[in-house]
Formats: sequence, C-alpha cells, structure tokens
Amino acid sequence: MSAAETAKTAKGSVSGSVHYRVEVLDTHRHLFQVTLTLPAPQSRQRLQLPVWIPGSYLVREFARHVHAIRAHQRGRSRPLTQVDKCTWEVDARVDEPLIVTMQVHAHDASVRTAWLDSQRGFFNGTSLCLQAHGHTHLPHALEVVRPTSHPDWQLATGLTAFKADRHGFGTYLADDYHELVDAPVEMGAFWSGQFKVAGSDYRFIVAGAPPSFDGERLLADTRRICETQVRFWQGRGQAPHRQYVFMLWAVTDGYGGLEHRNSTALICKREDLPRTGQNTASDGYVTLLGLISHEYFHTWNVKRLRPAEFANYDYQRENTTELLWFFEGFTSYYDDLLLCRAGQIDAARYLRLMNKTINQVMQTPGRLVQSVAQSSFEAWTKYYRPDDNSPNITVSYYTKGALVALCLDLSLRASGHSLDQVMRGLWKRCAAGPMREQDVLDELHALTGEDWHARLHGWVHQANELPLKELLTANGVKIIEDTPAWAQRLGLRVTETHGIQIKTVLHGGIAQQAGLCAGDQWLGIELPASRGRQACAWRLMRLDELPLYAGSAQRLTALIERDRQLLRLPVDLRGLSQETTWRLSISDERRVQAWLQG
Ligand code: ZN
Repeated sequence: MSAAETAKTAKGSVSGSVHYRVEVLDTHRHLFQVTLTLPAPQSRQRLQLPVWIPGSYLVREFARHVHAIRAHQRGRSRPLTQVDKCTWEVDARVDEPLIVTMQVHAHDASVRTAWLDSQRGFFNGTSLCLQAHGHTHLPHALEVVRPTSHPDWQLATGLTAFKADRHGFGTYLADDYHELVDAPVEMGAFWSGQFKVAGSDYRFIVAGAPPSFDGERLLADTRRICETQVRFWQGRGQAPHRQYVFMLWAVTDGYGGLEHRNSTALICKREDLPRTGQNTASDGYVTLLGLISHEYFHTWNVKRLRPAEFANYDYQRENTTELLWFFEGFTSYYDDLLLCRAGQIDAARYLRLMNKTINQVMQTPGRLVQSVAQSSFEAWTKYYRPDDNSPNITVSYYTKGALVALCLDLSLRASGHSLDQVMRGLWKRCAAGPMREQDVLDELHALTGEDWHARLHGWVHQANELPLKELLTANGVKIIEDTPAWAQRLGLRVTETHGIQIKTVLHGGIAQQAGLCAGDQWLGIELPASRGRQACAWRLMRLDELPLYAGSAQRLTALIERDRQLLRLPVDLRGLSQETTWRLSISDERRVQAWLQG
C-alpha cells in the first residue's frame, strides 16, 4: 500500500504537453491516483473518458470506475461539472495551467481496462487518461511514479521513454492522445527477456509465471514468429515499429489479447506456458503461440492497414465497420498458418486447428442467418454480448472470416496466386492506412485480371455455405465425415460438469421440437414399455450416455428441471440431425505443403 501525495503543481511536466501523472494510491483498495495537467486550458474545458477501447468492440463506460475528481488552478479549486456519464466540464482560467485529479478503481482481470493489487499494476490509457477537448492532437506525456511500497517493481510500455529510471519508472511521450491510449503499461516484479528482429527491439515480459516457466523457449519461439511475420509483410525490410513489447499475464484460468500499435497485452493459463525440460509443445502452448502470432499480425492488419471507419476513433460511442471479417477473420487465418511457416507446428497439427474452426462454423445455425459483414457491423451488440440464442442468429467474424480467407487463398492458388500477395498488395495500395472493401476487390483484380465481386459478395454479404469441400479437396486435403456428438445431433449446446445443463437450444433440432429450453437441466429419460421391456426411467449425467440407457428406442420422454418444476417432454429421436462433423487429413502431401509453406 502506498499513499502518494496529490500533485498540485505542473512540476515534472514536459513543457507544453498534456501531462498525466499516475501514482499507486492504495494497492489494497486497487486505487490509482491520476493527475492531469493542461498547460493551456480552454475556458470551458471539456474532459472525457473513453467508453470503449479500440480492438474490443463493446461500450464499457470506463468512467464508472472514476471517483473523487477535482479541478485546481494555482492551488485553488475550480468549478467542475459532470455533463454526462463520461464527460466533465471545468470553468477554467485560460492563462493558468489546469490540474485535474481523480482516483480510478482498478480491479478488472482483463487486458481491456486496469488492474492494481499487491502483485502487479496494469492500465490502458482509456481507463486512466481523460481526453482533453482541443488537446487531442498535441503531444502527451505520461509520468508513472514508482510505488515506495514496491521498490522491486519494474515498468514496461511501448511508449517512448523521455526520462525513466533503471526500473522503467518515469516519463514517457506520445505524439497525441491516440498514441497515449494505444500503449498499455505493466508494472510489477515480472519476468523479462528481449531479442532483436530486423533491426527492431522486442521485449517480452511475463507476470505470474510459475517456477517451471521456460522463458528462453518462449523468447525463441516468439522471435521466430516475429521473423516470419516481418518477412511476410516486409520481405527484407523492417517492421513498422522500432520497439515492440509483449506483456503477458499468466493466471490460473484465462485467455485473451488486445493489439496495440507497438505492443500487446495478453492473458494465458499458467499451465500453458512452456516448462523447463519439456521439448514438445502442448496444445495449450500452441494456443498461446497462436495468440502471440494473432496479436502481432495485427501490428499490420488493423493497427495500420485498418477499416476506413477507424481512421479517426470516436472514443465516446460505437465505431462500426463491416470489415471485421477481414481484420479479425484474416488475422485468425494467418495466426496458425504462420506458426506452421515458422516451423512451430506441422501440417497435420495445422489441419487439426483448421478443422476445429470449420466444425465450429458448421455447427452454428446462425451462419445461414447472418453474413460476416453484418456480424462485423453488429459486433457491439451481438458478438460482444452473447446470450443463449446467439448461435441461432449470429456467426463469428473470427471463425467464418478465417474460412473466407481460406476460400480466397485456395481459390487464388488455383491460378498460381495467393492471399499473401493480396495482403501485401493492400498494405501498399492503402499506404498502410485506411482500407475499404473496394480496395480488396481492386487488389484482387489487379493481381488476377478477374472480377471477384460476385464471389466475395456471396461469401461476405450473404449467409450462405462456403465452397470449403471443393477447395480443400482440390488442394490435397481429404475430408472424412463423422457422426457428431449427441448434443449436436439433438440440437443442443450443454455443459456437463454437474449433470446436463442446457446452454442453447439450436434452431430446427429435435430438442427445440420437444420444447427444451436454455437453462433447463436434463435429469434423465423415461422409456415406455415395449416388446419384452418394462417401462423404465434412468438418470443421465452426460448426453453421450443416451445410447446406453435408451438402446434402440425411437421415442422417449426427457425429464427436465426448469425453475424447480419437473417437466416430462416427449422426444422423437427419428428427427436426429443428419449433419456431419468433418475430420481433415492429408491426401496429397505436396499440394498441402505448397499451400501451407506459401
Ligand atoms: Zn484479433
């Protein structure tokens, strides 16, 4: 715990710039103290905290964690009025520096907001730094004070140091507000390592690592990922950043990442970290490498090449685009593919990962309801706010977007081209800046001489099946069709940790016809008497016990608990879903390698 003094002067500010001083006020109360100094305020100075953080498309209203906000000039309090949920206005004298102090509660275990406890501190500028109207495009300085209670803490951020001590605490600079809030800050007694790729400096820090953690292996694998991606986008050139920071928080259970212009904040399961003495890559570690690859790919695809609608962020409301199928979906396609090219997974393992994505999409009825362009546009209200009906009316722009990339890549390869060329072409065509869907069509036309409008329109703007089977088969992949799990055949999504809990009832399935409902607990089944068998009833704990207890019965009664009421619902098993699940295998090694190795 550390009670830092409120800064009441502009001392320490870099002259002329908007200055934020961040102090650890109290780790037990999870409080940061933030002091904003505006050297030349407006007379009615508006200050706003973002309601969202770029890269995570949900209105989160970070101002709900702010309190004790005050304004001063020359030591005297100034009138400050809250105008709306995230805006304040100060009646300020224009000829004197304005100082605004506030406290921010930071206890959200995610990459999107802020965290502070006795073990570590983390924040995004969107959670701590007020946007001062009229000052957005001015230089911004961020001063972070080392907590006296934690002398062993270090600090890492992607921002450029102006004046920092050997622990990394001190003052950092940003060209404008946008750069300031695009660089999260991590503090603590973390593990840290570094490497260089094509003239750029990379740092990897890990908070929460267990003693078994093999940091050298994580560094070596990350370096290979970065080398592969820099070569993918830039050939022999340099990455579009001088320095880059990976900041990873290892926890018991968690997963996520958020991309920034020269850094990324990641969360993974502690057990997924590589361990000393272990040479093989666990599935969990491959998932972590895929996440690292995904977020680093965003350095080009969404942080620089980006939707035209994101040319200038509005931090006060939803910023919609129909293009997340490209920026998230294509990034999802390349994250694992580039692990394969970096030599970290083989073709068989890559196909298993692709297989999972295909089955996820094919088992989602919403793929025939919502297009990926709509899914992108509605990310704020649908993808980021899922409920039990989501699989019926939505499709993920991540997974289906990755399959659109797959279809495009395999289609292009038929004529000797590749999606790699399209990506690099777009990077040049859009000058590493705002992009529209028409640019994709123009680039495809420039590359192949063909008009791709009808095909791309069908894949992106319509809720149709993609031509996966023909394209995969033509590229050396054999598709084996299996009978899916019982939940899918019945038209259900369930959890089975304590009996069968129904999460979603899929449209058109027999569970829906029988009247089952999300939230129900499926307790067991009753079978009527028939040829030599007495009527009976069985308790079920998992749906795959169904054939054991139902035998060859065509009809049965499901015993359901709904809000403490016991219901008996007749189920007609003759209507089981005939959909299959796919298993991909290599039928032509040469063709598959030609695709995967670029
Ligand atoms: Zn992403």
